[in-house]
Amino acid sequence: MSDITLEPRTFYTVVARDVTEDCPNSGGEFKVPELYSNAGTDASVSCGLCKQPMQIVAAERLEPQPEMP
Ligand SMILES: [Zn+2]
Repeated sequence: MSDITLEPRTFYTVVARDVTEDCPNSGGEFKVPELYSNAGTDASVSCGLCKQPMQIVAAERLEPQPEMP
């Protein structure tokens, strides 16, 4: 689904694209300033309209990493 590789337990700034054809956001790209990668393979961003997972098209590791709450 995505060829972006995320390290586990790491915060990223990502760009996610809505790939749901019948969603008004379809094809739109949305910046997420802070996304936690969990295990690295299960990080996901959901569309606020269609609630479907978006494709992560870009990811940049946050430096410095935020403190865990
Ligand atoms: Zn959508």
